[in-house]
Amino acid sequence: MAHIVISGGSRGIGKACALLFNSKGYDVTVLSRKDPEYDLGRIRHIKCDVSSMQSCKDAMSLIDEPIDILLSNAGISLSGLITDFDEEEYRRVMDTNFGGLYNLTRLIVPQMVSRKKGSIIAISSMWGQTGASCEALYSASKGAIDSYIKALAKELGPSGIRVNAISPGVVMTDMMSCYSEEDIACLKDETPLQRLGNADDIAKACLFVASDDASFVTGQIIGVNGGMLI
Ligand code: NDP
Repeated sequence: MAHIVISGGSRGIGKACALLFNSKGYDVTVLSRKDPEYDLGRIRHIKCDVSSMQSCKDAMSLIDEPIDILLSNAGISLSGLITDFDEEEYRRVMDTNFGGLYNLTRLIVPQMVSRKKGSIIAISSMWGQTGASCEALYSASKGAIDSYIKALAKELGPSGIRVNAISPGVVMTDMMSCYSEEDIACLKDETPLQRLGNADDIAKACLFVASDDASFVTGQIIGVNGGMLI
């Protein structure tokens, strides 16, 4: 069965993806800085800080089997006025959200090219497309992902490699814990489907994009947002 590497698979969306792909018979390897908070079963975990190229190289050196699918999901958010943040925070957000995707693709693409097959999926955000007030750095890091995905899809298509992004709306994970109940209620109200997303909504979209059912889909930023951004 196909082998998928999922970054940020310790919790939230990455955890839901790891469990769903595992339940469908995929070989799953998850990367994260901390140990996952769930029973791994057949899922393999490797400690990795995706913002560090060296840490990604060390993790890749522990993986023997070819990688068919890369799901670059690890990410951090940063909320506040742009004047609240310094260069260190700018680096942390960019190096994790965009740098993590760059580091992993830089290391994994050569083997996909030589095998003439592969699927790369990045978890972006609707804010990368439209921009969020008080999330300028986060929005920029996701906008970079969207451009990179489109460019890589053109570059790698002739090698039989598909490259796409899933762009979630608001999804109830630890990342949303900084928002008050009132904020959450407002976000729900602004969503045409009148509910917020859950991690499984995103995992199911990833499963489709990874599968042969999506064999003609590449270079796309696929919104999974309840209609919040149309
Ligand atoms: P969580 O905070 O629940 O999980 C984040 C995951 O990323 C954890 O597994 C964490 O593992 C991992 N991670 C963070 N930094 C690093 C790092 N440097 N190296 C390796 N792993 C790292 O967030 P979500 O599940 O909500 O978010 C997953 C993705 O979805 C992110 O890219 C996020 O931007 C995106 N997204 C989320 C939305 C939401 O509303 N929740 C909306 C739109 C997009 P550990 O800490 O163990 O390293």
